[in-house]
Amino acid sequence: MSLSIQILFALILAVIAGLGAGTEGLPFCNAWIAPIGKIFVNLIKMMIVPVVFTSLIVGMTSLGDTKKLGRIGLKTVVFYLCTTAVAIVIGFAVAGITEPGVGLAIAGKAPAVKAAPSFMEVLVGMIPTNPLESMVKAQILPIIVFALFIGYGILQVEPERQKIVVGFFDACAEVCYKVVAVVMSFAPVGVFCLLVPVVAKNGPAVLLPLISVIITMAIACVLHTTIVYSGLVSMLAKMSPMKFFHGASEHMLVAFTTCSSAAALPINMKNTQEKLGVSREVASFVLPLGATINMDGTAIYMGICSLFIANVFGIHLTMNQMMMIVLTGTLASIGTAGVPGAGLIMLAMVLQSVGLPLEGLALVAGIDRVLDMMRTCVNVTGDTAAACIIDDGEKE
Ligand code: ASP
Repeated sequence: MSLSIQILFALILAVIAGLGAGTEGLPFCNAWIAPIGKIFVNLIKMMIVPVVFTSLIVGMTSLGDTKKLGRIGLKTVVFYLCTTAVAIVIGFAVAGITEPGVGLAIAGKAPAVKAAPSFMEVLVGMIPTNPLESMVKAQILPIIVFALFIGYGILQVEPERQKIVVGFFDACAEVCYKVVAVVMSFAPVGVFCLLVPVVAKNGPAVLLPLISVIITMAIACVLHTTIVYSGLVSMLAKMSPMKFFHGASEHMLVAFTTCSSAAALPINMKNTQEKLGVSREVASFVLPLGATINMDGTAIYMGICSLFIANVFGIHLTMNQMMMIVLTGTLASIGTAGVPGAGLIMLAMVLQSVGLPLEGLALVAGIDRVLDMMRTCVNVTGDTAAACIIDDGEKE
């Protein structure tokens, strides 16, 4: 039985066990089951920095020239921006039809909101003052920048030395992928243990009142993945949707259960190369960048939630406001960190930009975990699709 099927089984079992446990069983789940899930997530997280750093140096040096990197970088960013804007529009369209929140009463208190960093702050933050500190804190963007500089440095020394350093990092990258493979063999158990407490906590009583938002989100995510991603992948990378989803299934499931693009990154990097045949140069650049800036699922969520909140408060959104949501939503999704719950905080920024009441956040906060599972799954699939498409373009 393939690993993805085993994970899928674990997922179904976890739903049954979680529903059986319910809120009464929650203390037991938290004490005995959740820690095992946490160990699994920690094991994957342990590999994020080593995988990203070593692969990126190998990728950068095998590109050979900086012009090619510039071209790949530009294509990647354009692809990410366009698909993200499309994602919000899809979110709007589906929410326009299902009308989530119409007739719902307002309750709850808004969670505290932190201000989003400005563009210049993000830019400054990308340059590591101490690369080891960035590694310790697993800040992916500064690590990418550092690896790019080291890669550039390696390309400037004489071939003899170049060979030694590249050979070393290449071997390290291989070792990292082997470790990821071992960790992934525990995925069925890890996924089960991660999910049982979530299901026990978010039983029908929590989810049912907001079922319209959950269904709207699910429809939009499925549409975006099947139409936009698999359409683009089969058109531009000439890859069948079957092959694409088969290759992506493991990290999609890990993203779904962990709610973290960053945690799914090492597996994404391994499988995109091994199962989908993407070159290390492209995978090592496009995927870590995607895990930090490409969040189409989060963008869909912003579109749906702002419409939902507008509906609940009986506010009619004008065309201008919707355009504003597409714009700020795209930017906010770029600024969203690939960690659980980050999208909810960035949603505040979008609501603020069009003057929607922040109290609305309290409504979605209760079901955020479930929405996060769906959006993170879409987020990582978008990165894989970009890697396949860009790699195919480079081969030609
Ligand atoms: N959890 C998401 C991710 O890691 C980010 C979000 O909260 O939207 O991709």
